[in-house]
Amino acid sequence: MSTKKLGLNTICTHFGELEDTVFKGAISPLYMSTSYAFEDVEVKRYPRYFNTPNQVALSKKVAALEHAEAAMIFGSGMAAVSTSLMAFLSSGDHVVLQKTLYGGTYNLVTEEFQKFGISYSFTDGLQPKHFEAKIKENTKVIYIETPSNPLLTITDLAAVAKIAKKHGLVSMIDNTFASPVNQNPIDFGIDIVIHSATKYMGGHSDILAGAVASTTEHMDRIFHLAKNFGGSLSDYTVWLLERSLKTMGIRVKAQNENAQKMAEFLYTNKNVKAVYYPGLPSHPDHELAKAQMKGFGAMLSFELNDSIDAYKFQKALQLVKSSMSLAGVESTLLSPTKTSHALLSAEERENQGISDGLIRFSIGIEEIEDLIDDISQAIENSLGV
Ligand SMILES: *Cc1c(COP(=O)(O)O)cnc(C)c1O
Repeated sequence: MSTKKLGLNTICTHFGELEDTVFKGAISPLYMSTSYAFEDVEVKRYPRYFNTPNQVALSKKVAALEHAEAAMIFGSGMAAVSTSLMAFLSSGDHVVLQKTLYGGTYNLVTEEFQKFGISYSFTDGLQPKHFEAKIKENTKVIYIETPSNPLLTITDLAAVAKIAKKHGLVSMIDNTFASPVNQNPIDFGIDIVIHSATKYMGGHSDILAGAVASTTEHMDRIFHLAKNFGGSLSDYTVWLLERSLKTMGIRVKAQNENAQKMAEFLYTNKNVKAVYYPGLPSHPDHELAKAQMKGFGAMLSFELNDSIDAYKFQKALQLVKSSMSLAGVESTLLSPTKTSHALLSAEERENQGISDGLIRFSIGIEEIEDLIDDISQAIENSLGV
């Protein structure tokens, strides 16, 4: 199957699938074997070598979705992030990282890199010049995340890719928040695309997984480290993730639509102080988002007026769940100060623009009227405190 001719939902449904030659079933068979023949075979298969039939099949689908030559599936998003970074960084090297990063990635860098002799700099801002300013003689990698968590800022993909090429660096992106439905960074010159597949790829809050997509050359390098680190995903979960990806296109597009309507509702609500969503013309990076995203995604964040108790508001919700993590078909929200960014100091949070009252909202596929009703009643019920 050539990806060029196929549209998103066809790739999601079919690309890479395994044929059931024995029973002619409609879906990929699941091969759970951890032991395969080693003689008279082209490939010596083993789950930790990332080459079982189901792993290979799913990798092809992910590569097609990200317009990449090759891909690998990992046991978690952080296995994908850590293996990708470490594959291109050795003792004595330096990496430039975007100032606003997923908490787990921030912890990986700040807690672990020193012991491997890897130095790092976080940018002072999100403009291309802020990335270039931190490049040193020993810099090897530029690492970005857009839209960012939790304020949904947008980093210029093409500009960062250009800077990386100019200085001979490898560019990497955490593309989790956008999903491959809304953003394909390789089209803009970014080298390596990483996903926490726990989020939109899985989409049902029941799978922990990661994925990386790039050129065959880069993926070979990542593979050589990955087989030693051992962060592969169980074949059963690989198979489940393939099933989840079949509906990713329609799920995420429905979530995009709901998020746009929710953002507009919140924006016009007098009890809401601020809304951060790249699909709103008021968002400072709206034009850039329009230029590099196919949809604006289903993550937004907002701040309630001071007259509303944010804690009481969350307790008053009946449909939307207060819950960690994101990107499921069900709508969830959380307070970054209490959860995803709790390990940062108050000063670091302030530096990233995360106020205590900020609420991060992951919009699901429920009927938007029901979601808006729930938010409205929760606001009404937490007024005047
Ligand atoms: C969740 C997440 C990760 C980490 O993924 P895990 O699957 O939890 O290991 C990395 N980046 C972003 C943006 C995430 O949301």
